[in-house]
Amino acid sequence: MPGRGAWAQDSIATDTLAGRSGKLLARFLAPRHSMALEPLKRLFGDSAKPFTFFSMRPFAEKEKGKVGSYRLGRWPEEKGRLRAATYANPEGFIEVTRENADTKVSEHFRLRDFITHDQQNVWPKYLVLREPLLDKLELIIDELNARGVPATRLRVMSGFRSPQYNERGVGRRGGRARDSRHQYGDAADVFLDEDGDGKMSTRDLLKLAAAAEAVERKYPELVGGIGKYRATRTRSAWVHVDVRGQRARW
Ligand SMILES: [Zn+2]
Repeated sequence: MPGRGAWAQDSIATDTLAGRSGKLLARFLAPRHSMALEPLKRLFGDSAKPFTFFSMRPFAEKEKGKVGSYRLGRWPEEKGRLRAATYANPEGFIEVTRENADTKVSEHFRLRDFITHDQQNVWPKYLVLREPLLDKLELIIDELNARGVPATRLRVMSGFRSPQYNERGVGRRGGRARDSRHQYGDAADVFLDEDGDGKMSTRDLLKLAAAAEAVERKYPELVGGIGKYRATRTRSAWVHVDVRGQRARW
């Protein structure tokens, strides 16, 4: 059982629901907090903005690497490789159905944006996603606009990556780390694409990374990784952003 401290840290205090950006529109409740779901729904069911509470499925529901028929694989801790507390198994999974996939989780992002890019025809899917990541992405959009860089949205190239999906890209160029934060729902590879051509220029890559740096300076509690990736012939440039709790740059 988590102690009082853990509860306080992972507070579901209602005044923080919208996050630092004020733009969060969802809250993912760990199984141990699920008793709070109904009272919260009653409190916020009629608020002006549509706010969604998701009750996560317990991690323990994963059997032989799958929840239902959706394959997720095994997390590093399950393989006996736990390098820090922040790399512990996630507490649970958000269930994504065809019906709820378009739910807005913050002003500019939907649940769908963060789904692992595999098993196209398998539903429901399962996802790990953390609110501080959404908060940071929203703050980056604000920061870009404040700097005169038009950003009506950020496109997510890759959000959550299940371990079994992540594994396929380990060691490749521009590739995936074995302990990638994408497996923990607090990382996203994003790019700016205001003209809609599916690509970001190197100039915008640098502006986006600079905006992410500025957000970390203003909100040190959202500290994490910032990685810059230049365009290849087949892929746009992108910036990796995460909220791992300590500074990392590449
Ligand atoms: Zn990444």
